[in-house]
Formats: sequence, C-alpha cells, structure tokens
Amino acid sequence: MSRFEEARHRMVEEQLIPRGIRNARVLDIMRSLPRHCFVEPTLQNQAYDDNALPIGEGQTISQPYIVALMTEGLALLGKEQVLEIGTGSGYQTAILSRLSARVYTVERLKGLFEKAQHRLAGLACDNVTFRLSDGTLGWKEAAPFDAILVAAGGPKVPQALVDQLKEGGRMVIPVGTRRSQVLKRIVKSKTGLEETALTACAFVPLLGDLGWDEEEGKAALQERPC
Ligand code: SAH
Repeated sequence: MSRFEEARHRMVEEQLIPRGIRNARVLDIMRSLPRHCFVEPTLQNQAYDDNALPIGEGQTISQPYIVALMTEGLALLGKEQVLEIGTGSGYQTAILSRLSARVYTVERLKGLFEKAQHRLAGLACDNVTFRLSDGTLGWKEAAPFDAILVAAGGPKVPQALVDQLKEGGRMVIPVGTRRSQVLKRIVKSKTGLEETALTACAFVPLLGDLGWDEEEGKAALQERPC
C-alpha cells in the first residue's frame, strides 16, 4: 500500500466509522478516492487529517467526516440526478459522481471551477456537468433532482432549491448564522418538508441571491473560515 492509501484507510477506520458512518458505498469510495489530489502539493501530507484544508480564494475542502455525513444523508443508490452547490476542490463532486447517475455542480469562483474540472477529467468522472454561476438559484433546466447537496452555509434554505427537489428527494444543507450552522437533512414529501439536524458545523458562506450578500460573506470569511 502507498503512504496515501494507508492514510486513507486510517481516515475511514479512525474518523468515519467510530463517528457512525455506516453506508458501505460511502466508506468504500472514501477508501479509494485520492483526496490528496484535490489539495495543493504543499498540503498533500495533511490531506487525510481530521479537518478542513484551504483550497485558495478563502475557501476550504470540507473535513472528511462532514463529506461522509453529507453524502450518507443523500442515500444514493446509483441512479440519481444530483445537484451540488459549491464545487470547490471537486472532491465531494467526485464522490457524488461515483455514487449516482449524474451530477450537476455549480461554483461561483472561476479559478476553483476550472481547477475542479481539470481534476475530475483526470479521474474520468465523466458524468459531471459543471456550471459557473450562483447556485442558490439551482439549475432549473436540469431539475427536478433526486438529491441536492449544498457545501456552503446560508441564512436559510433557498426556496429555488426546494422547488427543484423531487418529491421523495433528499437535501443536505448547512443553515444558520455566518459563524455557525446546523447541517440539516431535508426530505421533501407530499405534505411538506421533514427536517433532521445532523450536526453543528461551520462552513464557508453561501453567497448569492438566496444566500448572504457579498459584503456579509466577506465579513464572515474574516471571522471564521473553516
Ligand atoms: N465540497 C467542497 C467544499 C467547497 S467550499 C470541496 O470538497 O472542496 C464551498 C464552495 O462553495 C466554495 O468554493 C464557494 O466558492 C462556493 N459557493 C459559495 N456560494 C456559492 C453559490 N451561491 N453558488 C455556487 N458556489 C458557491
């Protein structure tokens, strides 16, 4: 086993399983996907550590446990159409791409959007469609979705995303203040939305029409990038 492979297996055994991640497909993909390819070379030695890491432009690749928890919350079986808001490094995108039929991923920062596309092409994730825009408005032309994952924290659940979720569909989204949020799992049913709180968390801000405005977002970044 290579040094990275070993670290990856340890990450699953020590960070994910003891905290209750049980979905075998999620554990398998996190055991095999090279997370170190999604950070800059100088950070590769830390890629399997139990925390978020900077990916440039004030953004972060989420802690492995949070990625696992969010992915498990979507309960993917392989046939789903998935919308992801906040491509970032593309690590979460690659996981979703291996576990579903198609991923539509939206990023608002051009530098990250371009790098993520390049990385995912290198890993042959060819069921991913990328878009550079404000993800709080969703992706109307590709809706409705079986699952929606939002990787940045906003003040509320954007109504556009609720509208674009299928009945029976799952959404995982951090909602709260600029400093701290609750990671929510939402299931859309005929009668409304069923919400469960998964964990307390601190994501980078969701900026956009139905998120924080740019100035509020900048203030949040200075307070606590995580
Ligand atoms: N899961 C990602 C983490 C990305 S961090 C990873 O594994 O790397 C959150 C990302 O959301 C950032 O790249 C940020 O630019 C992006 N973001 C914030 N608001 C957004 C919006 N309204 N639309 C699209 N992307 C947004």
